[in-house]
Amino acid sequence: MKTLAVLVTAAALTTLAGPAQAASAAPRKPARIVLATALPVTSACVVVGVGTTGVATGSRVTVIDDGRVIGRSRVTAGKAIVPISSKVQGSRVTVVVAGQRRIITVRTDAAALAASPWLVVNKKVSAGSSTPPRLTTSGNLRLQPSAAGAYEKMAKTAARQGTSLWVASSYRSAARQKSLYTAYVARDGRKAADTYSARPGHSEHQTGLAVDVAGSSCTLSGCFADTAAGRFVKSDAYRYGFVVRYPKGADATTGYRYEPWHLRYVGPWLAGYLHSVGSLTLERAFALPAAPDYAN
Ligand SMILES: [Zn+2]
Repeated sequence: MKTLAVLVTAAALTTLAGPAQAASAAPRKPARIVLATALPVTSACVVVGVGTTGVATGSRVTVIDDGRVIGRSRVTAGKAIVPISSKVQGSRVTVVVAGQRRIITVRTDAAALAASPWLVVNKKVSAGSSTPPRLTTSGNLRLQPSAAGAYEKMAKTAARQGTSLWVASSYRSAARQKSLYTAYVARDGRKAADTYSARPGHSEHQTGLAVDVAGSSCTLSGCFADTAAGRFVKSDAYRYGFVVRYPKGADATTGYRYEPWHLRYVGPWLAGYLHSVGSLTLERAFALPAAPDYAN
């Protein structure tokens, strides 16, 4: 519940703890919005996450600002994500699903973006020289607190099942990424360096929400997927709020080849949704432009 709370408004929490649970035990669930929250994902885009009970897959979801529809989506397995423009900063918008309404406040400022677990960084969207609001360190794991806690829980469960997970890399500052990239360019040239290293500002590791996991072999290599650690991560990481950020065959969207070891923390609510719809990339889930390459 602690990690989920990041995504849940106070009102939604009350609902989650109260009548919604009683309703879910009833034979016919009344339509209800159990969660509605808005998190910025880029400086131009905010995503409204909506959780429901008793609402059929395919049902319409609309987000309304001042009488105008500013976002539409449909419910899949009780959840919906609705991208809206970040121009609504500070607005109170209304989420409507199956005749139910929920009013939420949307924050789109830089502080909200930096703290958002749904933040997107890719070859088109730079994190600039921003730093995560908070980082915690444990051994060689350095991540934002919610992501670090989730990782440790996941690693403990894996260990209990006989699979060791190691941290190959986690948070890297903008300065560190710059020095790495500069060294790679000096050694191999810019074109070659771009195929295996992110440019400064464009690495997800700068968000403090990404971790490269290693097992007993195949570290940072495609064959990691076939190791015990790789299989555990693929089947179970979503339970802890992580997604394999660069899935197989999504190069044209993410700009990266399959990286079965690179996990991105988005929180259990969104990770569960992405898992249930079948490993959508963040770009596709949030209706953002594909990011196969840098702008120049
Ligand atoms: Zn990585």
